[in-house]
Amino acid sequence: MSETEQREKLKVIYCMGSGRSGSTLMSIILGNHPKISGPGEIYTIHRLKEENFSCSCGERVEECTYWASILEEWKSNVGIDSFNQYVFQSKNVVENFKSPIAWLNLILNYPSKRALYKNYQDNTYHYLSSIINHSKKPILIDISKNPLRAFALLKHPNIDLKLIHLVRDGRSLAFSLKNSRRENIRKRKVSRTALFWLIANRQSDFVLKRAKNGLRIKYEDLALHTDRTLERIAKVAEVDPKHLLDVIKGSLANDKSHIMEGNRLRNQKSIKIKLNTDWEEQLDFEKQRTFYRIAGKTLRRYGYQPLPKNKGVS
Ligand SMILES: [Zn+2]
Repeated sequence: MSETEQREKLKVIYCMGSGRSGSTLMSIILGNHPKISGPGEIYTIHRLKEENFSCSCGERVEECTYWASILEEWKSNVGIDSFNQYVFQSKNVVENFKSPIAWLNLILNYPSKRALYKNYQDNTYHYLSSIINHSKKPILIDISKNPLRAFALLKHPNIDLKLIHLVRDGRSLAFSLKNSRRENIRKRKVSRTALFWLIANRQSDFVLKRAKNGLRIKYEDLALHTDRTLERIAKVAEVDPKHLLDVIKGSLANDKSHIMEGNRLRNQKSIKIKLNTDWEEQLDFEKQRTFYRIAGKTLRRYGYQPLPKNKGVS
């Protein structure tokens, strides 16, 4: 038997979709479960050398003792050259979800013995396995969102993947990106946001169809029908839902975990799932129409209304 066949499968929950859909919140809720750790948006490891690439503990990831120890274990298993190749190339080569060639390669040539893919496969295994070892919890949730990475994890022979496609009404995303006051978020044209939302979600649909164990969750359902939605997630994750329900009843363990990336929510001590519908009133009607012209068919398929209820159409 080869080394790959002997390895025990790693249990990974992966959250994919268009981003800014509530994945940080989902990671916090699931990470509160005694069997699940939520290390954050871990594909961003490619930013390792950046000055502002930080852990939730406040340190740079590279200087945080928790992550440094994970990186050390991972490096010692694969060797420094292989580690560097993965960290600094994966995002632009194997996991480049904007590239049709990257998709074709993963569909046709992965897993394979070709050096590039073998290296990717080994590193993915040792990266995740080292996080699981350090967290002392048997399951991890990765909220990297990238649908091509989801596909790679799905095809990985040593990963038992539970897939969640997290969807949020893209017009709310368009509104928040247009009006963001945070400096690190560029103000984006609505048409560009609509196109990005459409592509990321259609790619996620493609991957979800191929998953044995997966489901699509709407953020709006998580906010409005929280219990029921968390129960569905617990079923896919194969964990007891009780601990997830506890979180929203106000008992969030503040375990000072080391979370990579994610938004400012990650430092909160209690969880409130809010549904902000400001876009319905405040996003120009013209812009709503632009979004709908580009992504309307997919919005409808997920069960979203063509126009907000307050505009008199349902
Ligand atoms: Zn840290």
